[in-house]
Amino acid sequence: MMSTRAPSVAIETDAPIPTWFGVGGTADRLARPSSIEELRQCVGLDPDLHILGDGANLLVDDAGVRELVVDLSGGVFKEVAVHDETGFVVAGSGVRLPQLINECVRRGLGGLEALAGIPASVGGAVVMNAGGAFGEIRETVLRVHAMDRAGREHAIDRTHIDFGYRRSRLNHLIITSVEFTLSPGDPETLRKRLRECMEYKKNTQPLKDDSAGCVFKNPTLAGAIEGVGDEGQRVSAGMLIDRAGLKGARVGGAEVSARHGNFVVTREGATARDVIELIARVREGVEQRFGVTLEREVVVWERSS
Ligand SMILES: Cc1cc2nc3c(=O)[nH]c(=O)nc-3n(C[C@H](O)[C@H](O)[C@H](O)COP(=O)(O)OP(=O)(O)OC[C@H]3O[C@@H](n4cnc5c(N)ncnc54)[C@H](O)[C@@H]3O)c2cc1C
Repeated sequence: MMSTRAPSVAIETDAPIPTWFGVGGTADRLARPSSIEELRQCVGLDPDLHILGDGANLLVDDAGVRELVVDLSGGVFKEVAVHDETGFVVAGSGVRLPQLINECVRRGLGGLEALAGIPASVGGAVVMNAGGAFGEIRETVLRVHAMDRAGREHAIDRTHIDFGYRRSRLNHLIITSVEFTLSPGDPETLRKRLRECMEYKKNTQPLKDDSAGCVFKNPTLAGAIEGVGDEGQRVSAGMLIDRAGLKGARVGGAEVSARHGNFVVTREGATARDVIELIARVREGVEQRFGVTLEREVVVWERSS
């Protein structure tokens, strides 16, 4: 008799978790679902699973993680559909953002080029509301498709997403695909803008080193600080770190970048523990110097007991 059961998603054990820091341990179990049904199986196996995007904002414990890690970079999660005339784009959550930006610019669709140079998967970029000097991804998002931890699917309109500075409040969900609304424009003009955004990033950030971008969010001042800013003003965490004399500070193989105070970069032999200790030292230094508590932007996966 033929089996009617759906094929089970394969589980790898002791699997590496690639991150841009290039440090940290492995996943006890890792799955690469290629369909919504396989993703639902993953949720059934471990509702506390961790979703891995491009690993560009992630630090993994040296001891690795016990929860199931789910890599969404294959199957339906890497599909893209582009409607040139309307600027309507649907991208799977595992699509790499830089690839999507290039494709849209090539086809004369504008909006995403402001995010040039940000390494991310589409899902990770939306969950973090990735952005910078030229805009945030939320400006182009129309609707997000996601699965909850009971395996139910949801379509969430942008008006119901509480996007804020480097947050979406969607972290409890698993983003499966994202609809964007882009503006048809001249490809050459868009290419020029993309190059400008990229140049700005290259000139201000240590993009060649291993890092996870900015470690801390830029804080909003609770009170005025002379020479720093007024009450309610968002100021640069990198500037505070620099002025607290922490640029170049090191713990083991982790170092506060000499180019950008908010980047911790890893050198040969670095461990996740080095990065965590350096982050704590930087936070303490800024607190002592300015009385400002920095909030971490980088996500840390610790080993649960
Ligand atoms: C060199 C460098 C420069 C950077 N510059 C910028 C910048 O200018 N602006 C900026 O905003 N960021 C920047 N970053 C940080 C990083 O690019 C962003 O935070 C990005 O959004 C991370 O996406 P990711 O796919 O790599 O997510 P990951 O690092 O893989 O994961 C981050 C978090 O998102 C969750 N997640 C990922 N995918 C999904 C999904 N499908 N559903 C639900 N949750 C998910 C993960 O579980 C995790 O909690 C930079 C990083 C580097 C290394």
